[in-house]
Amino acid sequence: MSEMRLAVMGAAGRMGRALIRAVHESPQSTLVGGTEAAGSEAIGKDLGELAGVGALGIHVTDDPLELFTRCEGILDFTSPNATAEYAGLAAQGRIVHVIGTTGFGESDEQRIASASRHATIVKAGNMSLGVNLLTALTEKVAAALDQDYDIEIVEMHHRYKVDAPSGTALMLGEAAASGRQVALSEHAVKAREGHTGPRQSGDIGFATLRGGDVVGEHTVVFAGQGERVELTHRATDRQIFARGAVKAALWARGKPPGIYSMRDVLGL
Ligand code: NAP
Repeated sequence: MSEMRLAVMGAAGRMGRALIRAVHESPQSTLVGGTEAAGSEAIGKDLGELAGVGALGIHVTDDPLELFTRCEGILDFTSPNATAEYAGLAAQGRIVHVIGTTGFGESDEQRIASASRHATIVKAGNMSLGVNLLTALTEKVAAALDQDYDIEIVEMHHRYKVDAPSGTALMLGEAAASGRQVALSEHAVKAREGHTGPRQSGDIGFATLRGGDVVGEHTVVFAGQGERVELTHRATDRQIFARGAVKAALWARGKPPGIYSMRDVLGL
């Protein structure tokens, strides 16, 4: 099969640059362009130079419509609002939309869901193999242990991260809730302060740490009487997410419209 023509949204961002490198390194894909928002100082810059792989002769644009006519898939790790916009355009173009952005509100989720009637979307709060394995393990352990084991999810990210809990922490929370056959929304405790009273049995708690240049660390704690099981994943290089995103795009090529997860891509 010919190389898949891919474009990177938010090409000058931390993940944008990692995505450019991942597409450039993959023999099964070819980079055809990248976007940034209108007015960004990155507009017109060479994508290869931004990503440190040398000039590629392809430049950052603020015109996604024109770009989408030339590509088969877009890799999008930007902001919730930008991603909801891109989802509508990807649906018009009937292309693959890989969404790594996190922090969506209800209305963004609805826009993405309606775009999935025409676009083939792979959406995951974490695109790494390791975390998706951790998600599958969390679901299994939560199903095996009863409510005498308190579930707490602890995450740490770099100081620039703007949303909390992380998309990955929420994904792990969903997996724990699904293992217990309950709805996360009814059991999640996302913040604690002051006189909170004792912990409710069945709560799924979240704790957020921010600082330095931490790429991403997640631990799911199952705390029982006299013992504790902890499942941990530590990311040390954001290239793992970028490679996962390219893998997702290649997997989605030719698949019918809909929303798929990274667990579908990895067959977990
Ligand atoms: P970042 O460095 O701030 O990058 C985001 C980029 O998108 C910025 O360059 C930003 O430009 C750009 N952007 C914003 N609006 C845009 C628009 N309308 N059109 C085009 N570009 C636009 O952030 P990051 O660390 O790369 O993270 C980005 C997202 O990916 C976050 O939601 C993060 O949580 C998520 N993430 C997901 C995974 C995963 O595996 N799923 C892994 C890592 C990160 P400005 O700076 O000009 O606003």
